[in-house]
Amino acid sequence: MAQAPSFVWNINPGRIVFGAGSVAQLGAELAAAGRSRAMILTTPFQKPAGEALAASLPGQVAGVFAEAAMHTPVEVTERAMAAYADMGADCTVALGGGSTIGLGKAIALRNGAFQIVIATTYAGSEVTNILGETRDGQKTTMRGPEVLPEVVIYDPELTLTLPVAMSVTSGLNAIAHAVEGLYAQDRNPVMSLIALEGIRALKEALPGIVAAPQDIGARGQALYGSWLCGTVLGTVGMALHHKLCHTLGGSFDLPHAETHAVLVPHTAAYNETAAREELAPAADLFGGRLGPGLWEFAQSVGAPLTLRELGLKEADLDRAAEIAVRNPYWNPRPVEQGAIRALLGRAWAGERPEQGE
Ligand code: NAD
Repeated sequence: MAQAPSFVWNINPGRIVFGAGSVAQLGAELAAAGRSRAMILTTPFQKPAGEALAASLPGQVAGVFAEAAMHTPVEVTERAMAAYADMGADCTVALGGGSTIGLGKAIALRNGAFQIVIATTYAGSEVTNILGETRDGQKTTMRGPEVLPEVVIYDPELTLTLPVAMSVTSGLNAIAHAVEGLYAQDRNPVMSLIALEGIRALKEALPGIVAAPQDIGARGQALYGSWLCGTVLGTVGMALHHKLCHTLGGSFDLPHAETHAVLVPHTAAYNETAAREELAPAADLFGGRLGPGLWEFAQSVGAPLTLRELGLKEADLDRAAEIAVRNPYWNPRPVEQGAIRALLGRAWAGERPEQGE
C-alpha cells in the first residue's frame, strides 16, 4: 500500500462559463455583476474583434483599449489606467490570450477592477492569480487574490481563428503546466486528476486541430484542456520547466508559447526518473515514456523542436544554464548546471530526449 496522502487543498474561486456560443452570455454576466460600463481590452491585432464585441452590447460597454502587449509593460498599463478613468469604466473585459489577460490583471492590481476574461488561447492565465509585469526590460512576477479574474468565458468558436501553429504551441504550453503540476512539491490528488485530464484532452485535440482547424469539437476539447491545465498552474507550484522558460524569455527574449513547446519534452525527460510514480499516468498516454513520447507528439503536430529556430544562439547556452541555476528552487531532481547545460544543448539542436537525461 502506498503512503497515506497528506496535502493542503486551496483552489482559486473563479466563475467559469464554458461552451460554443457562450460569448453571448457576456451581457448577462455583466448585468449579474452589476456592471454597465465595461472597458474591453485587446491587443492591436484583436482590436476589430473587441470593437465588434462592444457594438454587440449597446449600453454595457464604455470603450475599447487595444494596446495590450506581451509581458505586460508598465507603460501600457499606465495608459490603460488613464483610459479606464477617462471613460468612466466600472470593470474590464479582456478578450484575448495571456498578454491581454495580463493587462486586465495589472489594472485590477492598481484599482481593484472587476475582471471578466474571454480567453482565446490555451495559455491558462485567466484562471491563475499570477501576474508578470515588465518595467525597464525587467520582468517581475507576483501572486495574489487581487489579480484573479472573477469570471471567465470560454467560447471555442472564438478560437477558430487561432492559427494552427499557435494552437499547437499554446496547447503544449498548457500541457507543460499540467506536467509540472503532477510532480509539484505541493501537489494534491485532485489537482493531479485535473492535470491528467487536461493532458489527455489536449493530446486528443491538437492532432484534430492540425487536421481540421475549424473542427469545433477539437477546438472545444483543446479549450477544455487548457482550462484544466491553467487551473493546475494557478493552484500548485511550478519547477524546472517554468524556470527555464522564464530564463529564456526574460534574458534572451525567446517567444513564450514556442519556448514551452520546445522544452517540455526535455524537462519531462529530465525529471522522469526522479518523479516516476507521479508522471506514470501521463507517460502511459504517450507510449510509456513521457519525455520521448512528448517529443514525438510535438513533432507529429508540427511544433518547433529546436531553440535554434526560436533565435537562441549556441554561444548563449552556457549563460542560459548559469542563469537558470543561479537561484535555488525546488525540483524533483536536483538542478545541476552541467546537466541543465546538456538539456539545453539537446533542446537547442532538436535531439530526441531519453528518459532521465
Ligand atoms: P498572446 O496573448 O501574446 O497572443 C499572441 C497573439 O495572438 C496576439 O497578437 C493575440 O492578439 C493573438 N490571438 C490571441 N487569440 C487569438 C485568436 N483566437 N485568434 C487569432 N489571434 C489570436 O499569447 P499567449 O501565449 O496567450 O500569452 C503569452 C503571455 O501570457 C506571456 O507574456 C506570458 O508570460 C503570459 N502568461 C501568463 C500566465 C499567468 O498565469 N500569469 C500564464 C500563461 C501565460
